[in-house]
Order: sequence, then C-alpha cells, then structure tokens
Amino acid sequence: MADIKTWESEDVGCTIRIDYDLCTGCGECVEVCPTEVYEVVNEKSTAPNVDECIECCACVEGCPQDAIEHSSC
Ligand code: SF4
Ligand code: SF4
Repeated sequence: MADIKTWESEDVGCTIRIDYDLCTGCGECVEVCPTEVYEVVNEKSTAPNVDECIECCACVEGCPQDAIEHSSC
C-alpha cells in the first residue's frame, strides 16, 4: 500500500495528495509555492495551508520526485 497523505480545501475546492514513499523532504515545494501552502515536517512535506492555494501548479511541476498530485493541475 502506498503511503499517501491527503489535504483538502473546501474553500478552494481542491485536494493535494503527497506520496510519502516518494517524498524526500527536499523542500522544493516549500520554495516554489507562492502562498506558503507547504511545510516540511520530519523530512516529509505537509500542506497545512491548503486553503491558501491559488492552483498555480508550481508545486506539481517543481517536485523532483513527482510526489505531489493536485486535483487542479
Ligand atoms: S518537492 Fe516533492 S520531494 Fe521535495 S519535499 Fe516537496 S513533495 Fe517532497
Ligand atoms: S498549486 Fe500553487 S499555490 Fe497551490 S499548493 Fe501548489 S504551488 Fe502552492
């Protein structure tokens, strides 16, 4: 079973899924997200501020591991 964590925003109407088997905690998503949705905790990415997402898809495009799935991208 893949270890996939999910964050949903009712405000934005989007869902972010991060595959923890792939995520290395590199922090690239934290760097590229213009609205600071992400935070690396214990060497894995989390998306505590998903309500701030503007659906730009920079995180999906920037993740070197292809670990992020975004319902709008
Ligand atoms: S860019 Fe990808 S691999 Fe790096 S911390 Fe974010 S989700 Fe994990
Ligand atoms: S789609 Fe854009 S705003 Fe939303 S989490 Fe990804 S980088 Fe941040």
